[in-house]
Amino acid sequence: MSYQKPKGTNDLLPGTSEKWQFVEETARLIFRDYQYEEIRTPIFEHYEVISRSVGDTTDIVSKEMYDFYDKGDRHVTLRPEGTAPIVRSFVENKLFGPEFAKPYKTYYMGPMFRYERPQAGRLRQFHQIGAEAFGSVNPAVDVESMAMALDFFKQLGIQQIRLVINSLGDKATRAAYRQALIDYLEPKSADLSEDSKRRLHENPLRVLDSKDKKDQAIVADAPSILDYLSEDSKEHFEIVKTMLNELNIPFEVDSNMVRGLDYYTNTIFEVMSEAPGMGAQATICAGGRYDGLVEELGGPATPGFGFAMGIERVLITMEAEGVVVPVINEVDAFVVGLGEQTNIESLKLVQAIRNFGFSADRDFMDRKAKAQFKTAAKLNAKLALTLGETELTQGIVNVKSMASRKEKAFPLSDIYERFDEVYDEMMTVMFD
Ligand code: ATP
Ligand code: MG
Repeated sequence: MSYQKPKGTNDLLPGTSEKWQFVEETARLIFRDYQYEEIRTPIFEHYEVISRSVGDTTDIVSKEMYDFYDKGDRHVTLRPEGTAPIVRSFVENKLFGPEFAKPYKTYYMGPMFRYERPQAGRLRQFHQIGAEAFGSVNPAVDVESMAMALDFFKQLGIQQIRLVINSLGDKATRAAYRQALIDYLEPKSADLSEDSKRRLHENPLRVLDSKDKKDQAIVADAPSILDYLSEDSKEHFEIVKTMLNELNIPFEVDSNMVRGLDYYTNTIFEVMSEAPGMGAQATICAGGRYDGLVEELGGPATPGFGFAMGIERVLITMEAEGVVVPVINEVDAFVVGLGEQTNIESLKLVQAIRNFGFSADRDFMDRKAKAQFKTAAKLNAKLALTLGETELTQGIVNVKSMASRKEKAFPLSDIYERFDEVYDEMMTVMFD
């Protein structure tokens, strides 16, 4: 019997997990600079939280949910995305209250689940880092949020990216545009894909999002939603563009861009990777404004703006661009214990060294001196402390600096009482 991980999931092993940590730590640092704080929501939610926010006719809800009935017959689902849970939490914990900062800026990171056809950059368990800002309609919030996403990519060393923006307007815009789009698409509906035929009446904006080549050719000449924006939406979009220009952030407007989720209003954006080989998975970050969502989930009318990025896709982009992730792999001291008699003292030594705040390791396999020194070198150990049975009876340990080859015997008590000084002494390079 041999077991395998479920389709569309990954084990992240050392060598890879360091890269994930680098991405996550970079996000935490950048987001802190922008005054975003972390919220951690459960991995599963009530089904309605997702279906109400993301929209029943979206692919996510209609095809991709990992939902089930629990033993108490509750309809729950593994979360497919992060915004709906955050909004649910924002409302439930009354984070709109007067005691909280406005806008309320929060971020999250963690696994998301969608039943999709797995391929490179498209998984069933994938991971997102996302940020949300609640409580302001100021277009500066839109632009600050996009700037933060771009800052993050820059900090990671990613360069070959494009920012694409569009506006979906408000409710009135959407209603007017919806009809115009249906009028345009209906005469051509025989040539649309099966999925798009269905979307045409359920949710015509989703036809614009089709990944089918023939559909894409048809929608290329579709009316532009930007011609249907209300005065307010038009002004909002103009200010967003002005502010991006003021910050010298290059962008493109794609009036055919819509998002896969129903809750967006006004500004939406995507960050696309230009790196080779990204294919249909080139969108590494996506988001926008969702001014009705908090109300939809039972909170007071509260505007919102946010984005999410897929960690897997970010890492593929980094790889494609040849970004080298700094991996720090070194240990301050390695204890070479020779002979079974030294087992307990070696244990005490590494613990003492660690208690001084240094990193330390030792041999556990009773290996010969040569093999242990090889391990010390592989770990990039700064110091090797050799403890044989002779040293043990004499109450000393031989300390060697691996770089300068300098060696000196110290009483064991020096390690226990003042290892920090021993370390400094041994690491000081001597010139003669
Ligand atoms: P796509 O059009 O590629 O299916 P989406 O519109 O469904 O993306 P969003 O729901 O906006 O994606 O999620 C935001 C980001 O999360 C995406 O831009 C992408 O980087 C990542 N993402 C979404 N689905 C997956 C997945 N199945 N596997 C890996 N990453 C994903
Ligand atoms: Mg999708």
